[in-house]
Amino acid sequence: MAEKQTRSGGCLCGAVHFEVSVVEKNFNVCHCSMCRKWSAGPFMGVHCQGGGTFTKEDGLAWYRGSKWAERGFCSQCGTSLFWRFAANPDAMLIVAVDSLDDADDLTLQKHIYVDSKPARYEFADDQPRQTEAEFLAELGVTPGSGG
Ligand SMILES: [Zn+2]
Ligand SMILES: [Zn+2]
Repeated sequence: MAEKQTRSGGCLCGAVHFEVSVVEKNFNVCHCSMCRKWSAGPFMGVHCQGGGTFTKEDGLAWYRGSKWAERGFCSQCGTSLFWRFAANPDAMLIVAVDSLDDADDLTLQKHIYVDSKPARYEFADDQPRQTEAEFLAELGVTPGSGG
């Protein structure tokens, strides 16, 4: 069952602070090349309902990484924070797990874009692993549109 939970979080330097509604107590690990470049590693994101509330946004900046998505980060300390649909920014927000002040009860749900994962690292869990095509099919999004 989905449950709504308000959580606070922020960037490394404090120039971005926010409150979001966590949909379920879990997160996905994305291994796509854009996430890995952007966050300097696999990106662990929590699905949040709505666009979130930015209680401090002095450093908040958005990078339009593709036609349909943008990534939010702190322009002062460089923390990778958010992913959202550019055309509908208030619908949902994917939030970096470790930007939350309390994420200890969140568990790994699945890995996505595993066909983009380099061979140099491997996670030890047994959670589901989806390729780009499998993940996009589940979302109902056309493959190749990028993230
Ligand atoms: Zn910052
Ligand atoms: Zn990704």
